[in-house]
Amino acid sequence: MTSLSGSAPGQPRQQEDEHLPHGITETAAELAHNWFVGSIDQGTTSSRFLIFDGAGNPVAMRQLELENLYPRSGWHEQDPLTILRSVEECIEGCVREWEEENGGDRRRIRAVGLTNQRETTVVWDRETGEPLGNAVVWPDTRTSGLVRELRSREGAGELTEICGLPLSTYPSSVKLLWLLQNDERVKKAYDEGRLAFGTVDSWLIYRLNGGAGAEKVVHVTDGTNASRTMFMDLRTLQYDDRLLKFFGIDREKIALPRIVPSSDAEAFGKIASGVLAGVPITGCLGDQSSALVGQCGFKPGQAKNTYGTGCFLLYNVGEEPVISKNGLLATVAYDFGKGRKPVYALEGSIAVAGSGVNFLVNNLGFSDDPSRISELAESVEDSGGLVFVTAFSGLFAPYWIDDAQGTLFGMTQYTTKAHIARATLEATCFQTRAILKAMEEDSGHKLERIAVDGGLSNSDVCMQAQADIAQIPVDRPAMRETTALGAAVAAGLAVGVWNELEELDDVNKIGRRMFTPKMPEKKAEGLFEKWNRAVEMSRGWVREGDEKN
Ligand code: ADP
Repeated sequence: MTSLSGSAPGQPRQQEDEHLPHGITETAAELAHNWFVGSIDQGTTSSRFLIFDGAGNPVAMRQLELENLYPRSGWHEQDPLTILRSVEECIEGCVREWEEENGGDRRRIRAVGLTNQRETTVVWDRETGEPLGNAVVWPDTRTSGLVRELRSREGAGELTEICGLPLSTYPSSVKLLWLLQNDERVKKAYDEGRLAFGTVDSWLIYRLNGGAGAEKVVHVTDGTNASRTMFMDLRTLQYDDRLLKFFGIDREKIALPRIVPSSDAEAFGKIASGVLAGVPITGCLGDQSSALVGQCGFKPGQAKNTYGTGCFLLYNVGEEPVISKNGLLATVAYDFGKGRKPVYALEGSIAVAGSGVNFLVNNLGFSDDPSRISELAESVEDSGGLVFVTAFSGLFAPYWIDDAQGTLFGMTQYTTKAHIARATLEATCFQTRAILKAMEEDSGHKLERIAVDGGLSNSDVCMQAQADIAQIPVDRPAMRETTALGAAVAAGLAVGVWNELEELDDVNKIGRRMFTPKMPEKKAEGLFEKWNRAVEMSRGWVREGDEKN
């Protein structure tokens, strides 16, 4: 990626000399025009490091694919050390290339922000700092039996009101509980008081600060990530004893990360080694919150939909959480500290989006490139009557069906790979329509458009299908690294690269493309009705005891 010119960064409120990195001699005002912010974007399929200038333009990027492990049907794991190494390599490679090829200067990187896949659960030994096994990744469904059991426990009905999430295989709490019940190493560490728990943000921040051997051990998380664990009270942004008790977690035996604001000059510590040694980490947001921030969705009523591995629609509801009556999640959108109140969102989570495309590439060998799946889908006018309920991890919002699995309906001798490719893309679009309907019912407000981003939003045919199926304009920015931008914004706000959200009004506005609905409403309604029929028919496929057959 080449350098972009014409940046017009915000003025720091206060820039004292002691803040200037060693060797930089400009006056504070001159320097303000040359600040950059780094952003670690640790996603499900890849890790990235980007450098943004003060106008929110990316000037450099390095990305590395991440290995996903599927050791058994329904299991989804990653190696925490591989995650860490991929992040470190991205930072090193990106900064060096920026310096060597684009005249960058690492001393001008004022701070680093971090955004991450959410819910993915990491456990490590607090004495050694080493992981106690693989991370359990967010779509993993090994906990489905445990969830059925938890639903019948006393108090199960009150959890959502406190934490905003329904009981499902999705949050970290059930993943941790499963590890405690099934993994001897984890159980032993817990009994001996050595167990540390974290989502990927906590793990990375801990290790980037130097881990167990650091002068100051940093074990923290922010409210957006903590709100995905099911351990946090959505209103106080603190761990809640009722929730911990429900899951049988004894705080004396386990180190939980301290919950801090998403933007903070001190709480996340500093990078301990490598090219950015000494640079503070000052922003942390779960990936979907970060995309909302990167899309500048700061006003109540604004929404974004990110088509990554899964697909997540976040709708800003303002300073009070809204507990959904229609299968959506209540979550923390961002908490920028400095006396600002936390902002909440209603969220519609879809487990499979880009991962459906990857499934066609990796498992079925349709092509060797995701963008070819789009071309294949575009080669036919419609799905030829095919509906693909891509319930590889059951169905998330608004359905929450955990006994469904991926099911193709309507195959005939006419069906081709192209129809399957199209039905795969459409599955995410139908679920988005269902989520929009639920959001309208919860909020009493109809969205006028959705801002989109994420890998799958590169697909024009998918975005047009989205506009048609949901009968809503789809607004796609030219710069689609919005998730990384959000973390840079959180980091930059903490150290005065930006001071007020209004300074970001012009960020990422150039070159947006609008996809408008071209399909008649009646036809879209008919297709959606058929989709819902398919969803109902996919229910109940997984039965207890099946694994023995
Ligand atoms: P995450 O942050 O969850 O790792 P990304 O936002 O990086 O996800 O998106 C990656 C996903 O986007 C992959 O599943 C990939 O298959 C899909 N993808 C990327 N480009 C395209 C494209 N042109 N057409 C279809 N799918 C795409």
